[in-house]
Amino acid sequence: MNCLVCKGGEMVASFETYFVQLDTGYLIIENVPCFKCDQCGESVFSMSVVKKIEDLTKIYKKVQSKIFIVDYKQAA
Ligand SMILES: [Zn+2]
Repeated sequence: MNCLVCKGGEMVASFETYFVQLDTGYLIIENVPCFKCDQCGESVFSMSVVKKIEDLTKIYKKVQSKIFIVDYKQAA
């Protein structure tokens, strides 16, 4: 799979820290599986991962706290 952004890079399986801005604070999800361009660093998440991030966002949106740090592997 080639990178859609720079067209020259190769997308390789990797892990990324994902930041979500909530109304009341921030959600930080560590170790999110993704494909990352070895040239420009652009990362792409699969549909199932995006769905999981949305689910986590909904859960943590309701909790009144400033910053959450979640490990994707433990949450999935
Ligand atoms: Zn690229």
